Amino acid sequence: MTLTAGVVAVQGDVSEHADAIRRAASAHGEDVVVREIRDSGIVPECDLLLLPGGESTTISRLLHEEGIAAEVVAHVEAGKPMLATCAGLIVASRDAKDDRVETLGLVDVSVDRNAFGRQRDSFEAPLDVEGLDEPFPAVFIRAPAIDEVGPDVEVLAEWDGRPVAVRDGAVVGTSFHPELTPDVRIHRLAFFADRSAEGAEPLTR
Ligand code: GLN
Repeated sequence: MTLTAGVVAVQGDVSEHADAIRRAASAHGEDVVVREIRDSGIVPECDLLLLPGGESTTISRLLHEEGIAAEVVAHVEAGKPMLATCAGLIVASRDAKDDRVETLGLVDVSVDRNAFGRQRDSFEAPLDVEGLDEPFPAVFIRAPAIDEVGPDVEVLAEWDGRPVAVRDGAVVGTSFHPELTPDVRIHRLAFFADRSAEGAEPLTR
């Protein structure tokens, strides 16, 4: 079966995610076609979704204007997987503490939009991530921090004592940009690794 992966492409880094999802799928012997989502009507045809980084105020406005927001909510409510990165995580969160971002409430966390950006604009850090065998090279760009974490949210990684990768049901959210490194283990973790399997081995590169 060929999987359909949708990359929300109203704004932000789209081609890197498209590339990462193709390589992650191939690591698991899966066929995937990638569709870029700029209009409503495509999300319902997708098996998995990516909500990239960019500018959360712009992404949330365009998602609502184009009628894509409700489709993304329906996708996750149907139990289908999604990876939301950086601004994508802000948009997917329960609360971004900023009226300009109409959040989707799909990840039960509140976020501080530019928490890491105020300190340093951009940095890379080796991050220990639950389910991966060795540290992930995480690229942070004006990255949000996660403040409050709901009871059903699993924290997958922390940096500087704050959560930066979480799983809430079918959604994995990261503060950093996993698509900007050649390492596709986060995409594999979000979509292709059966983490529920008893004694699942950590993903190796
Ligand atoms: N902090 C940015 C925002 O609020 C997100 C930055 C990013 O996606 N790299 O939209």
